[in-house]
Amino acid sequence: MGLQAYSGPGWLLTKAEQIINWGRSRSPWPLPYGTACCGIEMMCALAATYDMARFGAERPSFSPRQADVLIEAGTITKKMVPVLRRIYDQMAEPKWVIAMGACACSGGVFRTYSVQQGIDDVIPVDIYVPGCPPRPESLLYALLKLMDKIQQDHPLYKQRADLAETLGVER
Ligand code: SF4
Repeated sequence: MGLQAYSGPGWLLTKAEQIINWGRSRSPWPLPYGTACCGIEMMCALAATYDMARFGAERPSFSPRQADVLIEAGTITKKMVPVLRRIYDQMAEPKWVIAMGACACSGGVFRTYSVQQGIDDVIPVDIYVPGCPPRPESLLYALLKLMDKIQQDHPLYKQRADLAETLGVER
């Protein structure tokens, strides 16, 4: 979805929230968190052939504080759960999460006591990408869907929700 604006010769009008969302949706810096085989497909999506940079996601950040989108690609064992949660907590708002692959979405083929059965019990997930593994095209499609979602967000919604929770007041 593009920026909704009214323009004429020499002038442009839009709403502040639309232009903020437009900017955010066009620069979703990813934190690539590959923990298993899905991570290989994620690397392909970031490399030259699939070129995720076309959509503004050209700067993979391995520091949570400089990332917008956590791409969790692969199996999460129970031992990794606190690490995943800490990384998510260290990301600044606004932040989004893509669960890539069956393991991230639901535990996948690993129906066992030592594997987390879906990361959405640990952190909030915005987009689920099915497949074992999903192809790079699937991740690109997920990114486009996330960009649409960011365009629909209120720019301060998440911050307001966090503040309300901190203060213990109703939103
Ligand atoms: S979904 Fe399949 S390819 Fe992806 S991490 Fe799990 S087992 Fe590996």
